[in-house]
Amino acid sequence: MSKKLTRSETAELIKGMEGKILITTHKNPDGDAIGSSLGWYHFLKKLGKEVKIFYRDRIPYFFDFLPGARDVESGTEIKGKFDWVIITDVSDPKRTGFEEIPAEKSLVIDHHITAEPFTDYYIVEPDISSTCELSYEIMKIAEPGLIDTLVALPLYTGIVTDTGSFSYSNTSPRTHYIAAELMEKGVEPYLVYSSIFERNRINKFKLLELVLKTLEFALNGKVAHITLFRCFLVETGAYPEEAEGFINYPRSIEGVEVAVFFKELEEEGKWKISLRSKGRVDVAKVAKRLGGGGHKMAAGYEAEGELEEIKRELFKELEIALEESYYREISL
Ligand code: 5GP
Ligand code: MN
Repeated sequence: MSKKLTRSETAELIKGMEGKILITTHKNPDGDAIGSSLGWYHFLKKLGKEVKIFYRDRIPYFFDFLPGARDVESGTEIKGKFDWVIITDVSDPKRTGFEEIPAEKSLVIDHHITAEPFTDYYIVEPDISSTCELSYEIMKIAEPGLIDTLVALPLYTGIVTDTGSFSYSNTSPRTHYIAAELMEKGVEPYLVYSSIFERNRINKFKLLELVLKTLEFALNGKVAHITLFRCFLVETGAYPEEAEGFINYPRSIEGVEVAVFFKELEEEGKWKISLRSKGRVDVAKVAKRLGGGGHKMAAGYEAEGELEEIKRELFKELEIALEESYYREISL
């Protein structure tokens, strides 16, 4: 049985953790995954705990400025034995990328609507912008004096990336208050911005050029989709993580309700599908029906098979979702 915790119960649980603690997050980690896990890594060390941080995949180079980034190890298998594992920003055990996590007890800290409990303890708040924002709230209850620049910088970074620099609808007044408090702990916004967004390699733009050429529309222009074939990476020398943010181009088109990004994965016949909505369609619901999850405005899933078949299946679901949103609106 999995036990749901409040913020203060989570704070107490973490303060009382004994023995070796492992921190991990989801595969292909994004800013919120990295920020929350590194934030907790520093915080727990300050609490005097023995901590190790391990991911399925390595950290993208544009997050290498974060304190502790070099302490993160990665690989397909976690060696050793742990008393606890803290898993951040993960709604589904498949998302960790590990078959097995060698820990006695487990805690999830997350903000996904579709999260289904799979650990001994969990705190999931889907209305909060990011796992970093939630982590800050818990740390403030646990031991506010320990939140220094080392803790604040990763947390601020995750908030920036998960809110699209405070622009997505998950940004609340509280998000801004917290960002201000993190700045008071020594975070410099321009350092974060320039480290993530102003160190682009030319390879990224070559990749963008190829990906944008695949732009197509479906369902009367309500859906815009782009595709990244593996051969594009070979041709341009770009890293897969350099395609982060490309989906904002199809979403930015007038009249488009849902943007889709099909990414061919390394394993033969496997695809990663990212979905973004402008608000009318709940893409978390669509992704969940197809085996994934996420948030109302940003979600994803993995699929195996022919791209044409994957598209057909998705567009069928999107057609239903768009129709539902239409009837919802006219009945208002
Ligand atoms: P992205 O498209 O940036 O990879 O992911 C957008 C959102 O969808 C993220 O918040 C992420 O948690 C969720 N998401 C993406 N892929 C998957 C998936 O395969 N499974 C689940 N459960 N959620 C996903
Ligand atoms: Mn997140």
